Amino acid sequence: MIKIKNICKEFNGKPALKNINMEIKDGETLAIIGGSGSGKSTLLRLMIGLIRPTSGELWIGDQEISHLSDSELDKVRLRMGMVFQYSALFDSMTVGDNVAFGLREHTKLSEKEISKIVAEKLELVGLPGMENYMPGELSGGMKKRVSLARAIAFEPEIIFYDEPSSGLDPIMTAKIDELIVSTQKQLNVTSIVVTHDMVSACHIADRIAMIYEGELIAIDTVENFKKLQDERVQAFMGYMKDD
Ligand code: ADP
Ligand code: MG
Repeated sequence: MIKIKNICKEFNGKPALKNINMEIKDGETLAIIGGSGSGKSTLLRLMIGLIRPTSGELWIGDQEISHLSDSELDKVRLRMGMVFQYSALFDSMTVGDNVAFGLREHTKLSEKEISKIVAEKLELVGLPGMENYMPGELSGGMKKRVSLARAIAFEPEIIFYDEPSSGLDPIMTAKIDELIVSTQKQLNVTSIVVTHDMVSACHIADRIAMIYEGELIAIDTVENFKKLQDERVQAFMGYMKDD
């Protein structure tokens, strides 16, 4: 589904990602972990086509996206759903209108069809019938779920999550983790989850990739990852245990 080949990204001549190679399979959930500033978000933004690599290739299915025009990228992006660190909802719109936003922008579906999809997706994220609430009336965890409902409104093939549970308490974090897993199962999507939480990563992922100072230093199944002897990996896991 996604192939990353020799990707380098510099900001003002400073390398943020150094020669990254990885493949993400159809239907797989990959967690990308690493410390703050290691390059996780940069890698995610490259895959979404929000920024362009300094060099290397990025394949989404059979399309190499790093050279596409903005309008071609827009089309590719319709196959993707995104859930960001901050839920990025429109505060002046109801929950229902937030979820419907992309559908109204990018499809010719009737209002009746849109309402049906919105109701379905809100149900899927555990917020049935909440269409008429305003984001301001919701808890942080509920906002994240609305943001997920919006991301899946299009039935994307790939969902990207950037620190989906940052700022949430452990119980809500566990709920969001559960939702990532159930969404993957119900929609059979490919999921890429950036997190600095090793516990979450182990719960949700098929494989874990670790970025360290812009380099991909490990990518393996959860089970194998936990056994890795690399001291940078172990330090990260140890730090999570003490946390
Ligand atoms: P992470 O998500 O792992 O915390 P980021 O991918 O956000 O890390 O950042 C990786 C490095 O790239 C950091 O040193 C950061 O300062 C730098 N960086 C990220 N985005 C930009 C940008 N738009 N302009 C300049 N530097 C950036
Ligand atoms: Mg980040």
